[in-house]
Amino acid sequence: MSSESSPKPSLNLVPFVSVENMMETILDIGIGEMLTGIARYIEQDFTRWESFDKTPRVAAHSTRGVIELMPTSDGAEYAFKYVNGHPKNMREGLQTVTAFGVLADVDTGYPLLISEMTLLTALRTAAMSAVAAKYLAPEGAETMAIIGNGAQAEFQALAFRTLLGIDRLRLYDIDPAATEKCARNLAGQGFEITTCDSAEAAVEGAQILTTVTADKQYATILTDNMVGSGVHINAIGGDCPGKTELHRDILLRSDIFVEYPPQTRIEGEIQQLAADHPVTELWQVIAGQAEGRRNARQVTLFDSVGFAIEDFSALRYLRDQLARTGRYEMLDMIADPDDPRDLFGMVLRAEVKR
Ligand code: NAD
Repeated sequence: MSSESSPKPSLNLVPFVSVENMMETILDIGIGEMLTGIARYIEQDFTRWESFDKTPRVAAHSTRGVIELMPTSDGAEYAFKYVNGHPKNMREGLQTVTAFGVLADVDTGYPLLISEMTLLTALRTAAMSAVAAKYLAPEGAETMAIIGNGAQAEFQALAFRTLLGIDRLRLYDIDPAATEKCARNLAGQGFEITTCDSAEAAVEGAQILTTVTADKQYATILTDNMVGSGVHINAIGGDCPGKTELHRDILLRSDIFVEYPPQTRIEGEIQQLAADHPVTELWQVIAGQAEGRRNARQVTLFDSVGFAIEDFSALRYLRDQLARTGRYEMLDMIADPDDPRDLFGMVLRAEVKR
């Protein structure tokens, strides 16, 4: 690790974590420790849920995908993420999901950190899933099916192993090349991996079912007969209006846990249900105000769509690691003339120096 010290508070320079520096950060800290750290920050922030400003993310839909802004604040710090979701991108050699984000100081409004968030989103999504499963998965779970073996899949696997000790994986993707890639990337990491040729085969004997596919339409990745009693479903891929992964009958016999109901009712699996269908807010389970799993036969569903507070937690975690890793550069982001009112004079002085 670099011995550079903490980013110096500066009026116009803002620490920026590029994709390259994010990769170095992951390698320096270790992905297991990073997932554990982000999970800890998520749990802290979910425990103080009521102190955050919350709003469903602001989405701009097109026929090809969605671009979203995800803001939140705890009154001291503010964060937003820009993120897209374009299922057709993968066929064109582009990422389905890319993101970047900002953490800012509420007092001055000045940014504190700018970061790539494509990798950070994969980490925080996986950490969030594992935190949910900590409260919802059946006791003694050892095996997870992962249906959809694209960009998020390995992160999910590693978070579940790190936080819950899940070390048996059953992988399936409609594209065998994706499954091959996932199995190859996870080889030698202590997993027992079974590659499967159907979703039905993948769920056999699994106590945790993760669906993480991408399709901009109502899809049925799991049908009711594939979900045995007592399993925990970690549904990640249904995260947009019109984009779901589970048959409605599964929802009707599951206890459903969500991040922020006003957003999940629009974007999650529960868009298939009546607007007053009962759900439990995950933060209440984490804060000890609601029950998670109650018995061994219950089907639990984490209807994940990804919420702004998780990104806030991930950015807060990253900011707190900068001094230790030194993996950032300073960006000249804020016009900050010596006399705050003399913005134009700053341009004139720059001309003299040319
Ligand atoms: P990706 O395009 O890299 O991977 C998706 C994989 O799903 C592909 O390999 C594709 O072949 C496979 N797939 C598509 N239809 C399938 C089917 N019917 N059965 C089995 N496999 C199928 O995408 P990604 O970055 O891994 O993201 C996956 C999904 O997760 C996306 O829908 C994305 O929007 C969502 N996502 C959710 C969150 C969250 O917080 N809930 C965060 C990040 C991404």
